[in-house]
Amino acid sequence: MYVSLEQAVAKLQRGEVVAIPTETVYGLAGDARHAPALKQIYALKERPASNPLIVHIGQMAQVNDWVSEFPPLAKKLAEAFWPGPFTLVLPAKAEVSSVVRAGEPTVALRMPAHPVTQQVLKASGLALAAPSANKYTQLSPTTAAHVEQSLGQEVAVLDGGPCDVGIESTIVFVAGEQWQLLRLGMVTLAQIEAVAGCSASHCETVATPKVPGQHVLHYSPATPIQLFDHRADLIAFSKQQSNSAVLLFGEDAPVDVPSFVLPNVAQAAAEKLYETLHKMDALQVKTLLIENPPNEADWLAIQDRLQRASHKLN
Ligand code: AMP
Ligand code: MG
Repeated sequence: MYVSLEQAVAKLQRGEVVAIPTETVYGLAGDARHAPALKQIYALKERPASNPLIVHIGQMAQVNDWVSEFPPLAKKLAEAFWPGPFTLVLPAKAEVSSVVRAGEPTVALRMPAHPVTQQVLKASGLALAAPSANKYTQLSPTTAAHVEQSLGQEVAVLDGGPCDVGIESTIVFVAGEQWQLLRLGMVTLAQIEAVAGCSASHCETVATPKVPGQHVLHYSPATPIQLFDHRADLIAFSKQQSNSAVLLFGEDAPVDVPSFVLPNVAQAAAEKLYETLHKMDALQVKTLLIENPPNEADWLAIQDRLQRASHKLN
């Protein structure tokens, strides 16, 4: 069910959940201070209660509503990467709902850059928990139509067009003067190092939060995926496996099965990655044959998502 911005805001203020666009992926949003809304997010997604939710804020001043410490290093990173696809995990204030942080002593905060998300945050006056608007472990939605495909027609969706970052945020845990990468995203390790002025530490002296969302099987289409380091091997395999579809990066290649090509620039490829995997999934072939993207720093987040999407539980 599609809703207008005004309807979305009214629903959120009443404690209901609404799928909203962000620049990363569509989020299933609810008031981050309202336990029934948070519980509905977990229930609709069928997400385990042990997997905490990211809290989305509209302004820097809101950080102090959620954290017990905002170390200078975290502030520097927030100033550099917010608004944007970047999440900070920080020590939580005692009063932060244990539902949103899944019992962790930390809370995850992000300030999104999407103009529609910003309008929703501003008009509602709320902070919004908003994990990806799909069933647990499935492929994330990057259009309003993907949300309905995964969560059904009943869920309220605010359509803001296709997401332009296209994969989930980079997540960094900050403890005092140390930081640690918890999830790769399109804000790269090199960009974080440049702002932090130091490399990621192993946080030996700091208890790192568990990262339950980093389940090995995640971000998965329904169709099994096979990854190939060498294009020639993929093409040879596709000749034997006629009930398949192929995904390549950069140049197209002649194959006898349906083929898709993503750009050879990481940002542009990330924008279209999930949309392309959704299309490939819809073909209902037996296997998706995917070329590994270039082995370069810019591509690490895309490699990470493809590895997780292709992981098979034996
Ligand atoms: P998402 O699945 O995109 O909603 O991101 C959720 C992920 O953010 C979790 O799986 C954790 O990796 C991380 N995260 C969220 N909240 C917390 C928290 N309170 N403490 C530590 N990590 C968190
Ligand atoms: Mg998700």
